[in-house]
Amino acid sequence: MDPNHPVGLYLAVPFCKAKCSFCNFASDAFAPQRMDAYVDRLCTEVSLARDAAAAKCAILARTADSIYFGGGTPSLLSSEQFRRIFTTLGGHFDLADNAETTIECAPGQLSDETLDELLRQGVNRISLGVQSFLDREAAAVGRLHTGKECESEIQRLRSAGIAEVCLDLIVGLPHQTENSWRESLQRAIASGVTHISVYMLEVDEDSRLGREVIEGGARYGAAAVPDEDTAAAWYELGCSLLEAAGVHQYEISNFSRTGHESRHNSKYWRRQPYIGFGLDAHSMLLTDGGAVRFQNTDDLDSYSQDRGPLTVMPRSKVPTAEYLTREAAFEESLFLGLRMSVGVDIAVLRHDYGDLLERVIPSVKEIEAAGLLTVKDGWMRLTQSGRMASNEVFSRLLIAEAVEA
Ligand code: SF4
Repeated sequence: MDPNHPVGLYLAVPFCKAKCSFCNFASDAFAPQRMDAYVDRLCTEVSLARDAAAAKCAILARTADSIYFGGGTPSLLSSEQFRRIFTTLGGHFDLADNAETTIECAPGQLSDETLDELLRQGVNRISLGVQSFLDREAAAVGRLHTGKECESEIQRLRSAGIAEVCLDLIVGLPHQTENSWRESLQRAIASGVTHISVYMLEVDEDSRLGREVIEGGARYGAAAVPDEDTAAAWYELGCSLLEAAGVHQYEISNFSRTGHESRHNSKYWRRQPYIGFGLDAHSMLLTDGGAVRFQNTDDLDSYSQDRGPLTVMPRSKVPTAEYLTREAAFEESLFLGLRMSVGVDIAVLRHDYGDLLERVIPSVKEIEAAGLLTVKDGWMRLTQSGRMASNEVFSRLLIAEAVEA
């Protein structure tokens, strides 16, 4: 890959009006003063990005072709805070003419004033965290919107001139039924959005709902969470209904109308360089002959209080930097590539990692025989069953460990 490939910029904004019961992200409800201090820190980090990259011997291109504000709920930032961030970004990066700029937004939590500022700053994509169009399901997990409000928000953003309006749905929510899941999908399709992400409810120790389900409790609607097999069947149903409506699956969790795939998120699966700023933000930059991954602290106090380059933080707070071995880079090319429906170009993999590919061929054949993967016309792809069992497939293809810096 061209070492000066344009970079993608990710900015984490970890603030929300209220914490959803299923959420396992580094985000929470905080006082407005914290948001202002956070924006200061974020701008400082952007202005020190080249020093941070140089300290890791990483290449940071001057040109950026995507910006993604993720959360949290970035739409809660004020117009002035967005202006400050965009001005800082503009001072340190040249934005490509056709850049994709995305803001994640909770329906009903974007003021007219902020929306005007976003349009002035060239934001062309807004991703709405709908999760469900059914009021009972949304309320059960702490979402603060109704299905009708989501539909009006989509219309409002379109009328205001946002070119790409996208939304997220979750399958496996408390109280969801096959019919209610169909209704959410149908309302998402009917809304005319260009991109829909479908996530399976994650049941883990990092969310209130997840812990309650694991412990067999009933709080947060835990007793009304569909079982894993049912949710998996509904995910497959969602894939078929979306495909039939012309919203094609291009990645395990992502569906779009043709030509509306997320360019920023595609960088993650194509192993193109990106740098993340803010709480718990991850980065992957190219080095001379390889790549390095690093991530920021997920502790808001540590992040906000430090005023210097993250690379000179005390050891306990230094973001871990992992220089990828050739084996690790091969595994990433395989696993990330297989997440995409287009799959992995075997000729490219063979060109870059022929010897390593040979080592996994016996496993590939076994996985193919189990119906989880296909090898056809020079491309390796997961089947629909393979997507449902992707973690199992990837674990059977593991060959190496990365080296800690
Ligand atoms: S709005 Fe998003 S980031 Fe915030 S708590 Fe809910 S799911 Fe988590």
